[in-house]
Amino acid sequence: MITLALSKGRILKDTLPLLAKLGIVPTEDLDKTRKLIIPTTRDDVQLLVVRATDVPVYVAHGGADMGVVGKDVLMEQGGDNQFELLDLAIARCKLMVAAPVNHQRQSHRLRVATKYVNVAQDYFASKGEQVDLIKLYGSMELAPLVGMADCIVDLVDTGNTLKANGLEPTEHIVDISSRLVVNSMAYKRQYNEIQSLVDALADAVADLNKE
Ligand code: AMP
Repeated sequence: MITLALSKGRILKDTLPLLAKLGIVPTEDLDKTRKLIIPTTRDDVQLLVVRATDVPVYVAHGGADMGVVGKDVLMEQGGDNQFELLDLAIARCKLMVAAPVNHQRQSHRLRVATKYVNVAQDYFASKGEQVDLIKLYGSMELAPLVGMADCIVDLVDTGNTLKANGLEPTEHIVDISSRLVVNSMAYKRQYNEIQSLVDALADAVADLNKE
């Protein structure tokens, strides 16, 4: 049995069609079920659907053999005891700095609101800029609107959320997509089973990108 941890939300929506190409379809309605371990149409694969930030934790501690998680989460948290095996090329977006439209450059140290404090710290340090970081867990766009921060670091897809809040992207930090990670012990123990899944997923990714 292989246990695969999936990130809830946007990533889950993009992961299910990929898994379906491998004949892996949840046997429960994910919107309705209260089950936390979800069987699939394949006897050898079961799913856990958890918060994105918990995926590398389940994989690190062997609660899941494999996981699907955004590169943003891996960059921010690192991933102990796991390898990143495949870029699934789904849930693609950009990690960006954004500020109010027509903002003026501040003379004080830049106040940056984000949930990606480690990535933001490294990014500004790489430019030789010292900033004050404010850790938030959601709705980063709000912080500049109430004067609490000068800018934010967040994921941007269409840019609609920024626009709706009078913000604009100012700097591109890195392109983001979802990655397949595997617990390093599980990879040794079940190498053949896991590698055949990885190969099939790589083919499914190539197919989806051709469509
Ligand atoms: P958008 O308005 O399309 O630019 O989307 C921006 C909002 O969606 C922000 O709140 C982001 O944090 C979130 N978001 C965008 N892309 C992703 C993604 N691939 N995974 C998770 N959250 C995302």
